Amino acid sequence: MIKSKLPDVSTTIFTVMSKLAIESNAINLAQGFPDFDADSKLINQLNYYASNHYNQYAPMFGIEKLRELLAEKYNNLYSCDYNYLDEINITSGASQAIFNVISTLIHPNDEVIIFEPAYDLYQPTVELFGGKIVPIELKYPDYKIDFDELKQKITSKTKLIIVNNPNNPTGRVLTENDLKSFEKLIKANNCYLLADEVYEHITFDNKKHQSFTQLTTIKDKVFVVGSFGKLFHITGWKIGYILAEKELMKEFRKCHQFNTFSTHTPSQYAIADYLENPENYLHLSNFFQHKRDLFVDNLSSTKFNLLPCEGTYFINANYSNISNLPDNEFAKLLTEQYKVATIPVSAFYKDKTDYKVVRFCFAKKDETLIKAIENLTKL
Ligand code: PMP
Ligand code: GLN
Repeated sequence: MIKSKLPDVSTTIFTVMSKLAIESNAINLAQGFPDFDADSKLINQLNYYASNHYNQYAPMFGIEKLRELLAEKYNNLYSCDYNYLDEINITSGASQAIFNVISTLIHPNDEVIIFEPAYDLYQPTVELFGGKIVPIELKYPDYKIDFDELKQKITSKTKLIIVNNPNNPTGRVLTENDLKSFEKLIKANNCYLLADEVYEHITFDNKKHQSFTQLTTIKDKVFVVGSFGKLFHITGWKIGYILAEKELMKEFRKCHQFNTFSTHTPSQYAIADYLENPENYLHLSNFFQHKRDLFVDNLSSTKFNLLPCEGTYFINANYSNISNLPDNEFAKLLTEQYKVATIPVSAFYKDKTDYKVVRFCFAKKDETLIKAIENLTKL
């Protein structure tokens, strides 16, 4: 018997619900991935590079053109100054970047602050390296950060604060003032910040994404992570990246080189070509806002109580007007009987707090959303 390093961890809720969706022949609004294809121009580039000998190891840092374009994009959008040579690295998805930051920083008994509900990767990874999770609840139903509580929870043991903005699963987006509050706290304390910004280009109602790369005064304490899976509808390619000041990056790369060494080569070339044209990502918010509005307009007359969605491609709904079941049981019922799979939001809390909320992913074809809405209005 293996002595488990993660005795309390089971299969992630995304895998559980996707499996149940398939078994139940249900529409999968659970796991976050588009059910439509990426632009054929991007796919053609992948075919081109795979067919033209770009099939051996990429450089450990990622291919140069892609890092140069990322530097240009970030420096233009956020007036920051990341050098593509020693401050940007391509990773095997944002997941690997996050895992690697944690492996780089966390020693046994270090404390890591996360905000709950939290994306499910953070906690087990911290625990794998002997770290201790200090959760701060984003109070339901507003899901706003309580900065006084954050200030109180930072101790001499705090090594890292993990922030996800725009936020999965709450759909909340941080303001400029929120970022200023973080800046102040990070300046005053001896800890680092990991900003998971994979939904950077999915914000609604003219809300502007506030990237932590803008906080140039704490650049030496911040890691910022992104994902091309979210940006270009290619979650299966698993290509992400990280930006970090060069001393931080030096340590990050020591772990990264033995964690995966490098990342899928032809995808990096294809993505680099596609990233050259900002038109390929600057309209993502409009594209998804249409889908959010379609979903909200049609579900607002039902007994679901939809919570605000300012960004990401997820929206939460409270179902207490429909059922008293715990959220995981309600999600199961919804999948098996009403043929719509969702994620029970208790899965994103360390102690499985249940506010009777399920998360819907609306990164789907309009026709898929309309079918799901038809099923949901029967409740
Ligand atoms: N962070 C958040 C908040 C996510 O929702 C996801 C899921 N896509 C990731 C990180 C992981 O991204 P990737 O698929 O690029 O590994
Ligand atoms: N990020 C996706 C979500 O929140 C899932 C990714 C995964 O399945 N690991 O649904």
